[in-house]
Amino acid sequence: MSVVMEKKSKGGRPAGSRNREYVVVYEYPAQCPSCGSTNIKPIPGGETQVHEFPGIDAATGKPFDRVTWRNCRCECGQVIRRRRPEKTMTDS
Ligand SMILES: [Zn+2]
Repeated sequence: MSVVMEKKSKGGRPAGSRNREYVVVYEYPAQCPSCGSTNIKPIPGGETQVHEFPGIDAATGKPFDRVTWRNCRCECGQVIRRRRPEKTMTDS
């Protein structure tokens, strides 16, 4: 005789999880190191790395909560890894 234990899985997500919004503090580099153009666009499907650590941006003096790196390409074809500090929008 066997007893079948049926596990009931409750659907649902933990309460209190809000979407966090981020504002971009700054982007590096602002210009292409090869040609100086500012026409730099993210590579579609390109790799994005997110590092969740807070700090103070050296160039602007503004605090950030995380940094993202993203592979972008300039109009001249130069591939640029862009660094982007971001700040969490918090309700106060
Ligand atoms: Zn360029």
